[in-house]
Amino acid sequence: MVVANQKGGVGKTTTTVNMAASLALHGARVLVIDLDPQGNASTALGIDHHAEVPSIYDVLVESKPLSEVVQPVPDVEGLFCAPATIDLAGAEIELVSLVARESRLQRAIQAYEQPLDYILIDCPPSLGLLTVNAMVAGNEVLIPIQCEYYALEGLGQLLRNVDLVRGHLNPALHVSTILLTMYDGRTRLASQVADEVRNHFGNEVLRTSIPRSVRISEAPSYGQTVLTYDPGSSGALSYLEAAREMALRGAVVGAQNEQSMAEG
Ligand code: ADP
Ligand code: MG
Repeated sequence: MVVANQKGGVGKTTTTVNMAASLALHGARVLVIDLDPQGNASTALGIDHHAEVPSIYDVLVESKPLSEVVQPVPDVEGLFCAPATIDLAGAEIELVSLVARESRLQRAIQAYEQPLDYILIDCPPSLGLLTVNAMVAGNEVLIPIQCEYYALEGLGQLLRNVDLVRGHLNPALHVSTILLTMYDGRTRLASQVADEVRNHFGNEVLRTSIPRSVRISEAPSYGQTVLTYDPGSSGALSYLEAAREMALRGAVVGAQNEQSMAEG
């Protein structure tokens, strides 16, 4: 699951870590791959990511096995993180001259032997080689959309990139999930944006949207997801529900695929 939107501040990282923790709390084994040089997902999961820590940079650029950089997330059973360090800022340029530059993450994941139910990849706010690596490695794209002015601006570019990667590098890639974030039901703007997104994308949009919540924004400074920071808060409950919805839909799609394969 590739969490992407080239706009910054729309809730990619928040969605990655809280969906991942929710899925783990529902009993799944989940790996978060932090692909943003800022390392916000690593921070939010309480994972050490100072410059000397083995990181996803070493995996992408130095071909280090993924298993050597993955760390268990404290306090959440079944949740793991491949952290990003500041080194990753150079990777966008260093990757250009490497062989198989678009598929290095895919290869690393294929060689990773631990059992996992989900991999969530937190993308940087750009459509460069790091995001392309994520789109080659994953089959599904999750787009968080902030219920604000210009919410749909730039999405066309993102969708075109998904099409390009599907056409040339990963035939399985598709936008499977749209999540409305920072939703404030009291404003007309938020409900207008939500309607617009639902009209545009239809079934991909999760019925559950994530409310604007101070608890969600406070949790990262304690190195926690909102699921452990304030489990009863509206933010925690909405991420749990969104993850449940996503997992159930996945199960239905999986069963349909199995059935159509069985039918021939
Ligand atoms: P991105 O990864 O797309 O840049 P972030 O997930 O880092 O976006 O979110 C941007 C900012 O908005 C962060 O400060 C985060 O804490 C805050 N934020 C995200 N989702 C919510 C929410 N539902 N309620 C309140 N603040 C939020
Ligand atoms: Mg981010």
